[in-house]
Amino acid sequence: VSERQIDPAAVYELTAIGRFAAEHGWVPATSGNFSRRLDGGRILVTRSGAQKGSLQPSDLIEVGLSEPLPAGVSAETPLHVARYRNDAAIGAIVHIHSVAATVLSRLDAARGAIALEGFEMQKALDGFTTHESVVRLPIFANAQDTAQLAGRIEQSLKEHGGVPGYLLAGHGLYAWGATMDDARRHVEGLDFLLRCALEERRIHR
Ligand SMILES: [Zn+2]
Repeated sequence: VSERQIDPAAVYELTAIGRFAAEHGWVPATSGNFSRRLDGGRILVTRSGAQKGSLQPSDLIEVGLSEPLPAGVSAETPLHVARYRNDAAIGAIVHIHSVAATVLSRLDAARGAIALEGFEMQKALDGFTTHESVVRLPIFANAQDTAQLAGRIEQSLKEHGGVPGYLLAGHGLYAWGATMDDARRHVEGLDFLLRCALEERRIHR
């Protein structure tokens, strides 16, 4: 057993985002996962099956970005690794299974994206300075082969990136940022926008 201490700031940030997400009902039944970049081409990521509202240091696994995945990591870890490898500016990734993200990603899956516009909350996203902009949040088909899925997603984000997140149809929301605070603001802002869009559709239907 390695006695090497993991970065205490990273452990603190991951347990805190876990509590925050659980309080919001975003990670039911051990779903969701979170990660944080460490020095030396490594990340710290939540293990499979952990209760996200009460994460312990033993629920966090160190993963090398160019090494085979260790045992016990979440099946979705390749999606995290691919984002960090393709964007050096990313310091943290937050993935949730909220109701709004799950429902809207199914309804709009065939469109390949959901357009959010006219909302002041769009300004919560880095790079968006006015409600007059259009946030085009991509939607990808869900898949159990997450290594292959990660390849498809990264290719598409290279072509139409810009929004710091994406949806997996019938599954949930991924969002990232330079720091954990940025990633949290992005996931919170995007989920708020999705809830607004869902409410509007209920009313207009
Ligand atoms: Zn998931």
